[in-house]
Amino acid sequence: KKLGRNRCYIFNGETYRKFLRKREITQELREAVINGFQGFTAFYQPVFAEDKKVPYGAEALMRFTSEKFGMISPAEFIPILEETGLIIPAGRWMMKEAMGKCSEIRKILSGFRMSINISQVQASKSDVIQDISAEMKRAGLPLEAVIVELTESDLLEQNINEKHFLTELKRMGISLALDDFGTGYSNFHYLSELKPEIIKIDRSFTAKAVADEQEYYLLNQFCTMIHNLDMKICIEGIESAQEWLKIRKLCPEFTQGYFWGKPCGYEEFVRKFVQEK
Ligand code: C2E
Ligand code: MG
Ligand code: MG
Ligand code: MG
Repeated sequence: KKLGRNRCYIFNGETYRKFLRKREITQELREAVINGFQGFTAFYQPVFAEDKKVPYGAEALMRFTSEKFGMISPAEFIPILEETGLIIPAGRWMMKEAMGKCSEIRKILSGFRMSINISQVQASKSDVIQDISAEMKRAGLPLEAVIVELTESDLLEQNINEKHFLTELKRMGISLALDDFGTGYSNFHYLSELKPEIIKIDRSFTAKAVADEQEYYLLNQFCTMIHNLDMKICIEGIESAQEWLKIRKLCPEFTQGYFWGKPCGYEEFVRKFVQEK
């Protein structure tokens, strides 16, 4: 039905395997949510500011290990969590987890900030903002310790509840980062309207800019514009020193990428990026 009317679609073995896989993962996700979020973990990827010695903060990234299929990519399970509404409890679990850890890290790195991804489905539930503020209180975090990441495409389709979410976020004074910038939906109106603190350049854009002069020129212009609007830039997806050499000329305030550090579990994160720094 999704393909449109008046069509014939051959239901083959491949389709069927995908269908079965999705059905099993859905079932496992449901059970995991009921059983105290077993199988869910939070990974953390460092975000660096100019000095590059200690991380400025981290992005919390959800992981799910299926009994049957092993670790599954968020690209596969987040849409299922969204379709089933399970993203609400799972997202709440994630917030609690990430904010608790943020508070631990702040005992050593006092200015540390945690970025949390909120999807459209979460943003359109009116009580998500209460969840965020409740979890921040519980973890004893000040406003500046948390950054909420929303994707560009989600912002374009704002409905009443999401508008409410954004207004409330602003009213409470929680920072907003615009995620996935440059993935095809770029619209400048909401930039001046929402005034996000940070614009995160998607790694597909970064990769293109590194490989192609015209794309680099485009990104350069984008960055100038973002800076002129008094917003900060975080460049995602830096994978090598060579890439960094080129990208650093754009003067991004923040960078995130495999070159600086891959997402990892909390213990590893502390060992690599927090202790003895
Ligand atoms: P995102 O928010 O744009 O997160 C950045 C993604 O880029 C992460 O993938 C990260 O591992 C990957 N990445 C970072 N640096 C590099 C690099 O140098 N090279 C490459 N190849 N990749 C890099 P991940 O963890 O697979 O997450 C994918 C997406 O899933 C996220 O994109 C986010 O939209 C969503 N997601 C993850 N965790 C959550 C969550 O807790 N809640 C919600 N709502 N969405 C989440
Ligand atoms: Mg993100
Ligand atoms: Mg991103
Ligand atoms: Mg992304």
